Amino acid sequence: MLDLDVAVIGGGLAGTLLARQIHRTRPGTRIALFERATETSYKVGESTVEVASDYLIRRHDLSTYLYEEQLPKNGLRFFFDTEERNAPIDEMSEMGTEFLPKVPSFQLDRARLEADLRQMNTAAGIPQHIGYAVRDLVLGDANTLHRFKAVSPDETIDVSARWVMDCSGRGNVISKQKSLKLPTAAHQITAAWGRFRGVANMDAHPNHEWRRRVRFGPRYLSTNHFCYPGYWIWFIPLNRGVVSVGVVIEREQYGDEYRGEEGFMRFLREHRAPRELLESAEIMDYGAYKQLSYANKSFFSADRWAVVGEAGAFTDPFYSPGSDFIAMEADYATDLFVREMAGEDAASRETRRVAYDRFIQERFELTMTLYEHQYPLFGSYNAMRIKLPFELASYYNLCVRPYMLDNHLNLEWLAKANAKHPQIMSEFKELEGLFAELGADLKQRGLYYSRNLGQYRVGFDQVVPFALEMGSNVPEATVDAHQELIASVARKQALRLLKRTAPDATSSAADEVQLAE
Ligand SMILES: Cc1cc2nc3c(=O)[nH]c(=O)nc-3n(C[C@H](O)[C@H](O)[C@H](O)COP(=O)(O)OP(=O)(O)OC[C@H]3O[C@@H](n4cnc5c(N)ncnc54)[C@H](O)[C@@H]3O)c2cc1C
Repeated sequence: MLDLDVAVIGGGLAGTLLARQIHRTRPGTRIALFERATETSYKVGESTVEVASDYLIRRHDLSTYLYEEQLPKNGLRFFFDTEERNAPIDEMSEMGTEFLPKVPSFQLDRARLEADLRQMNTAAGIPQHIGYAVRDLVLGDANTLHRFKAVSPDETIDVSARWVMDCSGRGNVISKQKSLKLPTAAHQITAAWGRFRGVANMDAHPNHEWRRRVRFGPRYLSTNHFCYPGYWIWFIPLNRGVVSVGVVIEREQYGDEYRGEEGFMRFLREHRAPRELLESAEIMDYGAYKQLSYANKSFFSADRWAVVGEAGAFTDPFYSPGSDFIAMEADYATDLFVREMAGEDAASRETRRVAYDRFIQERFELTMTLYEHQYPLFGSYNAMRIKLPFELASYYNLCVRPYMLDNHLNLEWLAKANAKHPQIMSEFKELEGLFAELGADLKQRGLYYSRNLGQYRVGFDQVVPFALEMGSNVPEATVDAHQELIASVARKQALRLLKRTAPDATSSAADEVQLAE
């Protein structure tokens, strides 16, 4: 019998990082990781945003590694097309950055990252049982240990563990056993993707003026989104000349004829700009999921188990929040484990567990408002010109800033965040409702595509002042004031396009928004 303080199920992004984090936070912990696959293979989840990047850099000291072995990311970039999907890339309206963002983020070759993390873990002395599937998990309670079998083709190990961290991804080991998984009925999306070699480099585009527009900066290094009504196509560079390309689409729009690699390629080729980028490219591998999002009833149990990463829940890949959730959940799982092992009293641990669980639930709920009923407007520059800056500025203000200060581990801050949650939810629902209405309204008035060509905006003007403040403490009243401003600009713009208000003397340059009628 192998006796452990903590067993980690799964050696993907969540499992390798969590094992590393626990080992670094509490050296001497009897920890082991169990991964059923023998090789790390292609996985989606390549683009990181600021919370996850801060987690990798600050918590794991991986900054040099990320710059040397992976790719720096040049922010998010969005392109808009004609209704006929035939615009050349340099004529498409575009929103994106002109310089590498102040707060770093990265494009990850996941297979390589996981292999490297496993090597780092081995070098640090963390036992990793690769090729061992976890079976017959019997979860203990307050007084009994958890037990399972780790099964490889050659042997079976009986394991008992004080804590189990479920990082099994869509294996959902604990969620299935405890029936924790919940459907997200209001958000039915599907995805298909592949890795490609030989994708044309958009930074070598012959249109000099188009390149000058971004100061000859690397569009290639951005997470590039080609936006359409009801779906978007991503181009994400991985290191060593490989590019990940995928489509995320409302389920009812992606008929059976597109399922499978051939259909996926046919679908991509129906869009001129993606087709031209892929003209000389070769697909290396292909993957797909039928339904992307799902929720979870509970992430952290009083009985000493946790679900982290996709073993728990998943929202949507637009904005790449997947690894942000891994960061926060891994922080919480580590903290609860370390406190229990240190003998902290049960009542205060329970207070924390409840606060942590509630925070993840609330963050999940808030994140879903960005997607539910929003896909129909994705293809309109007129509408996304308002939605994107609102959401990106809110992300910096409400998510990145507190994470960089570790506020999510502070009970007092969590209590305030919890008290504010209903108000923030209602503001987001109101605005996202307006955006959805705007999408439908523009379509009806024939203005959905009216500015999809020739426009260019850095677009994230509101983010820049916040970026300068990231990592420094500001009073909560300032955060609230920023949020009010971010929301009021978006509200004014949306109402103006909906023709419910006229431009007024108090409008600032940031409120400026127009339609080509
Ligand atoms: C289409 C799409 C695009 C995405 N894009 C992004 C993005 O750009 N950025 C981002 O941050 N996130 C993105 N995500 C989310 C991201 O992919 C996930 O957050 C991340 O891969 C989850 O990592 P994980 O470690 O939880 O799961 P995984 O990486 O799936 O790892 C789980 C591991 O557990 C192992 N396992 C399962 N069952 C068992 C068992 N019984 N015993 C032992 N081992 C087991 C599996 O073999 C696997 O290796 C995207 C997701 C989708 C669907």
